[in-house]
Amino acid sequence: MIEIKGLFFINKNINFKLLNKNMAKDYEIVIWLEIHIKLNSKTKLFCSCDNVQNFDELKPNENICSVCTGQPWALPVLQEWALKKWVKLWLALNCKINKFSNFDRKSYFYPDLPIGYQITQLFHPTNTDGRVSFFVDNYKEEKSVKILQAHMEADAGKTIHEWWKAYLDYNRAATPLVEIVTYPDFRSDDEVVEFLKELQRIVRFNWVGDADLEKWQMRCDVNISLRERWVETLWTRAELKNMNSFSAIKRAINHEYKRQKKLLEAGKEVDQETRGWNDDKWTSYTMRSKEDALDYRYFPEPDLPPLELTDEFIEEQKKWLVKSAFERTKQYKEEYNFSKEYITPLIWDLAISDYFENLVKDGIKPKNAARWIVNTLLRYLNDENISLEDVKFSYEDFKFLLKKEQDGEILWNQAKDVFKEMITNGKTPAEVIEEKWYKAQDDGELESIISEILKENAQAVEDIKAGKMNAIWFLVGQVMKKTQWKSNPAKAKEMIMKLVG
Ligand SMILES: [Zn+2]
Repeated sequence: MIEIKGLFFINKNINFKLLNKNMAKDYEIVIWLEIHIKLNSKTKLFCSCDNVQNFDELKPNENICSVCTGQPWALPVLQEWALKKWVKLWLALNCKINKFSNFDRKSYFYPDLPIGYQITQLFHPTNTDGRVSFFVDNYKEEKSVKILQAHMEADAGKTIHEWWKAYLDYNRAATPLVEIVTYPDFRSDDEVVEFLKELQRIVRFNWVGDADLEKWQMRCDVNISLRERWVETLWTRAELKNMNSFSAIKRAINHEYKRQKKLLEAGKEVDQETRGWNDDKWTSYTMRSKEDALDYRYFPEPDLPPLELTDEFIEEQKKWLVKSAFERTKQYKEEYNFSKEYITPLIWDLAISDYFENLVKDGIKPKNAARWIVNTLLRYLNDENISLEDVKFSYEDFKFLLKKEQDGEILWNQAKDVFKEMITNGKTPAEVIEEKWYKAQDDGELESIISEILKENAQAVEDIKAGKMNAIWFLVGQVMKKTQWKSNPAKAKEMIMKLVG
């Protein structure tokens, strides 16, 4: 008996090891996101209180009224400012528009929600089925993620805990938020972060919010589950909260992948729960388990009429939509052959991106415009810690300078000196070029200098005659050196050609 038992045991062990060795399971990560974005509309969602973006500027409870603090008999009225921003955002997210929609009540009790419920949308949301396209892997690959819903809701106030006391600040109560829920279309941390960056640019480019993660203007809950590759069934998901940077989101996803994989490999189950992320310790912890889940008793909001949108209203908002960073990237990549060194800085800020596109429209070659913006202009803005609207020169002046360089009338290092004068002395490039570069010689003087150079460089002259055009630029360089960079290279080149014959 004992022997048989032992044998059985050994067999079981062997089987187990073989199974693991031959069929090491390959787990695929499946992610979907729930994102909250604060809108920058002028007013709160249902009252005319200011929708302040930076709450640090306010004293506690300075910006409240009877509506946003849920006083009895105070009724909400949907504010047009907020509605306009909202409509613009879901147009930018390519959402399907339901012209007839409703608000719903989500009931829960918490002191920072004085009204006892949140006004949101569940049963008949205004917009569904959106889509956001973006690039992954350093702009090498396109990816598209479907949006399930992007609805408007009112934010809660804020509870400040201090030792055994808690303080309530309702400045934030009922400010407009958009909740965006995606389909489980993400397969990596990189995809999640690139999507969030694109979303941030959509929000900023269309001026509907700042979407700054660190200021909690954009909050992201990441739902993660694993499945065996090629198998449809998903394992239980866990939801991760409390991440306020892209790098923290990446770290949290990777940590969660390893945690769930370890559980599954040990034959255990993943609990359905909400987990918080501690970015100092790089670990996650249980916040709420499935058993603690609340019943929100959703029902249609009786104090607000159904929302009915007209075609004219929607069309009006469409006019203000801005070309997306994705479309820009696609164009820079495919038409201009740019790589990430140019694309990343050019799509990060709308003003910079538009500046670049205007230069191209005005005849500056894309490569020249990008090189000037990325290597010179942005560096200058960065060093001075200013934005484009604070610079001392006009767009026309910048374009003039680039044009001069592009046409070969001044060389790259001359142009850089002109730029230096423009930003330090506030002179126009035309003034600087006139004063600094061209007054040194008249045509006769230039001709005698060039004749001398041609004599000294007989080989280069032979090369030009033999059709080696690089030699011309070598000679132009000699002219510039001899005149201490005070001549017009285009003119010098022309004269060299004439004299060589
Ligand atoms: Zn109010």
